[in-house]
Amino acid sequence: MWSVLQGGIKTNVRRQNCEMSEDNLCAICHTTAEGDIHILRDCPLVYPIWCSLLKEYNRSLGGGFFTSNFTEWINSHTTSSSILWNSIFGITIWSIWKARNEVIFANWVWKEEEVIKKVKFLVLEVDQHWKVGDYRLLPGEDWLTVWVPPPVGWLKFNVDAVVRLGGTQVGCGGVLHDEKGTWVRGFCRKLEPCSIMEAEMHVVLTSLEIAWEYGTKNLCIETNCRGVCCFQQRAHNAPSLVQVLSTRA
Ligand SMILES: [Zn+2]
Repeated sequence: MWSVLQGGIKTNVRRQNCEMSEDNLCAICHTTAEGDIHILRDCPLVYPIWCSLLKEYNRSLGGGFFTSNFTEWINSHTTSSSILWNSIFGITIWSIWKARNEVIFANWVWKEEEVIKKVKFLVLEVDQHWKVGDYRLLPGEDWLTVWVPPPVGWLKFNVDAVVRLGGTQVGCGGVLHDEKGTWVRGFCRKLEPCSIMEAEMHVVLTSLEIAWEYGTKNLCIETNCRGVCCFQQRAHNAPSLVQVLSTRA
């Protein structure tokens, strides 16, 4: 969501500005310029999706949902008092954008009901795994499948990195939440070609910098990379990063 707010999605308006597209029309309705707010909320073929989901999850259709500006809209629905709705909102944004890309790149024929069905399926999965208001682990579950909040007064950064095609495509990202699961900060970025260890350490370093700028020192960082967790005991191929991390951790 942070990336969306930073103009990170390549709408046709943005693509035309970068001379990547000859026109800026919406890829779905083909009638209006495809800006962020149009493709994610106001497009006449997206509007029914939100109406259906707001009704399904007992949310108000008023309250400025369809009239607030883009930044207000994203902020208010990712930091609401309902952790479940914040998740539903994010899932819907992601599903709409993914479906829009499938129209362009996979010749998929736009069907609102299919997007709604996909959102409901994902929400069900999230709801089952992320027990809202009850973070106790169930039999057979562990911290890898259920998000466990940090202690009261602490923040938790969940981070990950990915390396593809022999290290030529590298990216990383992270989300920062408080003990109630409220989104605080997030980031995603493309990295220069490197090893998975360097990418994993970059993501930890970035999360430390963001948390530092935010002003917190009570920070948990959750990564699935055992090598990073043990970096102080091990020698590996990223000595400069180890030095930075060692001084900040
Ligand atoms: Zn449209």
